[in-house]
Amino acid sequence: MNGAPPQPTLTDALSSQVPGIHWPAVVGARDAAVLALLFQMESTQWLSGEALREQQNRQLGALLDHARRHCPFYRERLPDDLARWHEIPLLTRADLQTQADAVRANAYPRAHGKTFDIATGGSTAEPVTVRRTALTQLFWQAATLRDHLWHRRDFSATMAIIRQFPEPVDETKPGRWGGVFRSGPAWHLPISTDVDAQLRWLQGVDPDILLTYPANLEALIACMRGKGVTLPRLREVRTISGAVMPALRALCQATLGVPLVDLYSAQEIGVIALQCPESGLLHVQSEHLLLEVLDEQGKPCREGEVGQVVVTDLHNFSMPLIRYALHDWAELGPSCPCGRGLPTLRRVLGRTRNMAMSPEGKPFWPVLETRRFLQAIPPLRQYQFEQTARNAITATLVCTPAPTEEQLQHLQVALEQMLGHAYRWTWQIRETPLLPSAGGKFEEFSSSIHETSANG
Ligand SMILES: [Zn+2]
Repeated sequence: MNGAPPQPTLTDALSSQVPGIHWPAVVGARDAAVLALLFQMESTQWLSGEALREQQNRQLGALLDHARRHCPFYRERLPDDLARWHEIPLLTRADLQTQADAVRANAYPRAHGKTFDIATGGSTAEPVTVRRTALTQLFWQAATLRDHLWHRRDFSATMAIIRQFPEPVDETKPGRWGGVFRSGPAWHLPISTDVDAQLRWLQGVDPDILLTYPANLEALIACMRGKGVTLPRLREVRTISGAVMPALRALCQATLGVPLVDLYSAQEIGVIALQCPESGLLHVQSEHLLLEVLDEQGKPCREGEVGQVVVTDLHNFSMPLIRYALHDWAELGPSCPCGRGLPTLRRVLGRTRNMAMSPEGKPFWPVLETRRFLQAIPPLRQYQFEQTARNAITATLVCTPAPTEEQLQHLQVALEQMLGHAYRWTWQIRETPLLPSAGGKFEEFSSSIHETSANG
């Protein structure tokens, strides 16, 4: 947010649920549970990394014991000693697809509440269904509130949310976004709406906060620049579900004049990491999950190394996810200058299907520098790459006027330097913008080669 906003007055934003009691508020049991977690998380965030891991191990012991007893899948899989943690084989999406019944517990404590199933992963063509409990949702809610507190959101703000929704939404009737706190309105619009219509809707809503996917934000900003439209009240953009490149943060600040705050989550797990209000690093939510970043040999990455993200949900006793390979890639961050002991990720890169492959068949993450693209082809508006074979990539470029042969040559040289390999290139030039997939994710690099990756 701009300037120095006042601390949100949380007590004013709590509604008492007991007749006759107005102040201080006495809330209902479920809200009280969320607030009690938040209260603890206010102090646990300052624990050292070692102290956090010690507490996690206490919880892991209980989880592993439960899984061994009640999930056939885990019966032989889990060692008795946490020192042998790294020997536990990764739980893959394929495991969840073919052995879901054995991963689900045949019993779990009643106090964890009702279960519900979520299905996710359609965009990677690997859909899985995960069963969760009401208890796991408490942690989701508490992490969401922590995000509001960290970023000092004014609870009276109007929020506009453009994303995919599990249920149909009414675009003309707002909900609330503050969770247990009373808040301003939250307006909802499905991501499938075309960008022009999104912009008209946004002008009507005139939000303080916009929440959407990174790819959609990029398209919206391009549209706003084209039409010279501004959102005068906007103070913050929040992104979820998708990799945020530094260029998008810069574009957001330059065009909209507001900061971008990212949140890393997965439907199967809940909130995984929140952006630090001081450093911008992503803080892992260690109170409810153990996160590992592993290299190609399955060894823990060191700071600055990119590896695959593996998570363990500490509290899901209905379908324990133990060392679950999310198929996301991330760079492990340093300890944060803010003083919080929660481990960090410097950036989340994206999904396994966005990995490139060398002509020799080795997978790697394609680091693409937009700046170099623009040096080669100044009027380039948008780009997308699809690897169609080990030695072949199709590049789709949105560019008017169409690039010259010489410009394409320059681009090819730059690309092959960035990727570190030579490929056979097919150029597709178009004038109209590329759109995100139905799930709202825009993939700047995707692979359609069906080979099992070394990290599958
Ligand atoms: Zn921090």
